[in-house]
Amino acid sequence: MTNRETAAVELHAVTRRYGSGESGVTALDRVDARFGRGTFTAVMGPSGSGKSTLLHCAAGLDRATSGRVLIDGVPVEGLSERNLTKLRRARVGFVFQSFNLVPALTAAQNVALPLRLAGRRPAAGEVDAVLGEVGLAGRAGHRPSELSGGQQQRVAIARALVTRPAVLFADEPTGALDAASGAEVLRLLRASVDQHGQTIVMVTHDPLAAAHADRVLFLADGRVVDELHGPADAELVAVHTARLETARTVVA
Ligand code: ADP
Repeated sequence: MTNRETAAVELHAVTRRYGSGESGVTALDRVDARFGRGTFTAVMGPSGSGKSTLLHCAAGLDRATSGRVLIDGVPVEGLSERNLTKLRRARVGFVFQSFNLVPALTAAQNVALPLRLAGRRPAAGEVDAVLGEVGLAGRAGHRPSELSGGQQQRVAIARALVTRPAVLFADEPTGALDAASGAEVLRLLRASVDQHGQTIVMVTHDPLAAAHADRVLFLADGRVVDELHGPADAELVAVHTARLETARTVVA
């Protein structure tokens, strides 16, 4: 059951350390973040700032060293691996830079996979409807090798959306695409927020991509150090990014 009062994902004082002692690295340092339902957040920051770690902890792929993570109102700390996997399958969608489609399966079979993993037989027309949403109604029978990069990423988005997850995490979803295909992918992500109230958290290096979000979080050294609210333009995102890079250079 979904509680509309809670955010799709909440992080409370989340710390993630790798290793221990002097050689240990604090990848996330007491991060607080709330991803409200139906919002689109971009996460930016220099390489090594903790973006992937934030995404993995927020998605229940990795566990925080300390602090609390709630996915769709469910605290993940107390869950067994088995129940965490179940929670992820039911309520979290993923889109990666490298598409990660199963090469031997058709587009429709790839999209149906999360439903089958959850032990559910897709209802008639369910997969076709989601493929239609991403503009690939005519490609259901094609294998990934028969599709362009942009089309493969649209299949991956359909696969992520088919379970109607509480939150979709996208890790550099346009990183492997040309500008036109990347723009199409961003348009689709934006449409899923506007038309279906989807919640999206997207890690990106690209100010143009981040400009599609409602909010941009900037990470540096494992902390949220800056935030932009409201639809931002790419130029403003770039200015904030440059300001952070300059601050880091001065400190270094
Ligand atoms: P980003 O995604 O912004 O590039 P990451 O979250 O990958 O940053 O990494 C944050 C910090 O944590 C970096 O210093 C990185 O070297 C370190 N780190 C990430 N994963 C591991 C790991 N599995 N083991 C040790 N250190 C790690």
